[in-house]
Amino acid sequence: MTRDRAALKALADGLLRELFPICRSITGQGVRQSLAILQRHAPLAIQEYPSGTPCFDWTIPREWNAREAWIKDSSGRKVVDFAVSNLHLVSYSVPLRATLTWDELAPHLHTLARLPRAIPYRTSYYKEDWGFCLSQERYDALDRHGTHEVFIDSELKQGSLTLAEARLPGGSGREYLFSTYCCHPSLANDNLSGLVLTTLLCRELAGRDLRHGYRFVIAPETIGVIAYLAHNQEAMRSLTGGFVVTCVGGPGPLGYQETFLGDHHIDRAARQAFRELGIEPLRHAFAPNGSDERQYSSPGFRIPVGSICKDKYFAYDYYHTSLDDLDFVKAGQILETLEVYLKAVEILEQDEVLISTNPNCEPQLGRRGLYPQLGGKLLPSPPRTSATGAVQPPPELGGPQVQPPPELDTVDALLWILFLADGQNSLLDMARRSGAPFGQLRRLADTLLAEGLLRRGQEPPNHA
Ligand code: ZN
Repeated sequence: MTRDRAALKALADGLLRELFPICRSITGQGVRQSLAILQRHAPLAIQEYPSGTPCFDWTIPREWNAREAWIKDSSGRKVVDFAVSNLHLVSYSVPLRATLTWDELAPHLHTLARLPRAIPYRTSYYKEDWGFCLSQERYDALDRHGTHEVFIDSELKQGSLTLAEARLPGGSGREYLFSTYCCHPSLANDNLSGLVLTTLLCRELAGRDLRHGYRFVIAPETIGVIAYLAHNQEAMRSLTGGFVVTCVGGPGPLGYQETFLGDHHIDRAARQAFRELGIEPLRHAFAPNGSDERQYSSPGFRIPVGSICKDKYFAYDYYHTSLDDLDFVKAGQILETLEVYLKAVEILEQDEVLISTNPNCEPQLGRRGLYPQLGGKLLPSPPRTSATGAVQPPPELGGPQVQPPPELDTVDALLWILFLADGQNSLLDMARRSGAPFGQLRRLADTLLAEGLLRRGQEPPNHA
């Protein structure tokens, strides 16, 4: 990670504050404005897909923008106002000016009894409608007897859907995906946190000499990703795998949602990243009701996509409410998740299949100065196939914390590498099998490569 963590935290915090108030939807100026801000920090290219463009079974909808929206009671007092929170207006509400009775107004009001102070988040992208969202407390205080004046200054027009892409080239022929969605308004964990993390990750990797290619997509959820896939079919079908970055900044424990394969190279890299950092993540199995992996992993594409998250969607009380705000999400929490993503990238970058050049019994390590001078060691180091020693996490980290794996005795680690170097295992497999830290095996493998005891094999197989 960038050396100056404080500077990175300040940058993340600044982005959170600047982007939080902007009214985003699946189209419109709020998305453009947000992506333009992110473009200042990462090499993102903006793409526009015109309304009416067919994309597989979908069509790019009209572009929606809202300038003003409110409800006034009979005394002329604004009782609900889009200017106070953009969650107050149902996204894609059609324009309206009307004076309504309570019975006419009430079906268009949405509340959340479970959290009486929270404004819920609602959309109506594909059905022409209008509506307001408000807290149960505010709703209960409204006048049932008088009329209300309702004004929505919105616009639905033939415009376009906006998304952003960054492609960082690598030499291996492999390309990995990081995708996040930009369609939610003032909701911090879902998914302003994803926008900020993805931008910081792209910024971080853009300055590096990379072995693999990385493709970043920041698009409206569902329709934006469908549009992107429809226009990049061949390239997307050749991706190795990737991550959907969503809900990465909550105060709760870190989690990992598996790819649809469950044990793809992506899953193993992510799990090893957690292990190396001494974090035991919550496990979320793949489900077809999730985020944009629904499109990326659909039968026509089948890209294995995992997700490293912190307070996953559906799993926290404030999900899709005004309480998912900047009191709930902090820059430091986003950096914790970013660290796991960076570790996973580091592992993907450094992993490779290694083959022993002396497969017939062990090579003689002593002759090469790789074995202790005195033979007859009493006890080998114990096998470590699972992390042990759970300790209480520091409060700012939240989740259950385990110790990162300690390094193995050097000879034991060398023996594990040489034993598994049959062309079927990558360093990641060796780390998992031996319990040794990935970094130790990488270092020792470099020594064995230099000694001519190993040669490089094919890129790691995609799935076990
Ligand atoms: Zn959402």
